[in-house]
Amino acid sequence: MNQSIKAKKHSGLIKYLFPYQKKKRINLLFEQRCLFKCKHCHIWKKEDNFNVVPLKIWLNFLDDVKNLFKKNIEINLGGEGMVLLDEKIFPIISKSKNLGFYILLNSNGYLINKLILNKLLESGVDKISISLDFLSGNKHDKQKGIDGCFNHIINLIKNIETINQKSKLFFNCVIMKQNLEEIIPLTKWINSLGFTIGFQAIAQPFNSPDEQNWFNKDKFKFLWPGNDLRTYEIIDKLITLKKKGHKIGNDISQLESYKFYFKKPNIRLLDRCNVDEVGFHIYADGIVKRCQFKYSLGTIKDNKFGELLKSNEYITTLNSMYSCSENCMQMVNCSFKNKPKIY
Ligand code: SF4
Ligand code: SF4
Repeated sequence: MNQSIKAKKHSGLIKYLFPYQKKKRINLLFEQRCLFKCKHCHIWKKEDNFNVVPLKIWLNFLDDVKNLFKKNIEINLGGEGMVLLDEKIFPIISKSKNLGFYILLNSNGYLINKLILNKLLESGVDKISISLDFLSGNKHDKQKGIDGCFNHIINLIKNIETINQKSKLFFNCVIMKQNLEEIIPLTKWINSLGFTIGFQAIAQPFNSPDEQNWFNKDKFKFLWPGNDLRTYEIIDKLITLKKKGHKIGNDISQLESYKFYFKKPNIRLLDRCNVDEVGFHIYADGIVKRCQFKYSLGTIKDNKFGELLKSNEYITTLNSMYSCSENCMQMVNCSFKNKPKIY
């Protein structure tokens, strides 16, 4: 392990929490139920741990975050489940706003009608990220398992245009086998509407048991674009569009890294886990994780956040992350600024 980044107990702890970035990202996953049945994400199969942490604890947690990190704090709402299903969302947004946090909401757009959109923006949401994987409404609905969900996104676009708040919305697309041919037309369409689109590479579906070579398994390989010339052509076209000024959220180095990932998914792209980009994940049952795949630090139900960060478990976790040799989705899909070592 590189000794210069090895964490030590109580030794300038905060600088080890977010060693290389200004923004301190806290991912609040207080609601993990989902009405959709996406083919590339199995969060909707979760059956437990719903709504077990009372609102008061979440609000106290936000105070702890403020006391610990002071400024440049980003609250990331949702991403693994539909947080809009939970009535805690508005008190959490209001509290976050009062504490001066930047607030990002991740959504599939299904529950954001005109009324909710206005309420979200009035409460202080800074950005809304909408997942959109297809230009064709039928294909989008089929992938998400819900009839008509594409039309909800179209209505959301109309509503945000009506209130002249287009800068608050952006789109997120997962590159996978089914949508390869839609990537370029989708990018052009979103840009023609004046929005930005960002891309992630397909990874093993959330809430599916960790499996080596998941992309080769019969149950998942329909998602995997793999080592196919067409995959690289599409990504190269995206890079060309980006160079021409299209609004694409990813750095070119990240788009390049997707090609390598699809070619050799088991080879690491970065020298070390980009933990500084990952932030903290707090799940519906109150469990706190730095790495979302391993290493629970404890729960905000039983501990103050600051106590968890002073524990031996935390220091051990951080050091394990620095020396982790996996090439997990976080390595590929986090918005890394380091140039991948492969190139
Ligand atoms: S991708 Fe989003 S909408 Fe689809 S199942 Fe997962 S959490 Fe639900
Ligand atoms: S599995 Fe390893 S590389 Fe992925 S987030 Fe966890 S520590 Fe980082």
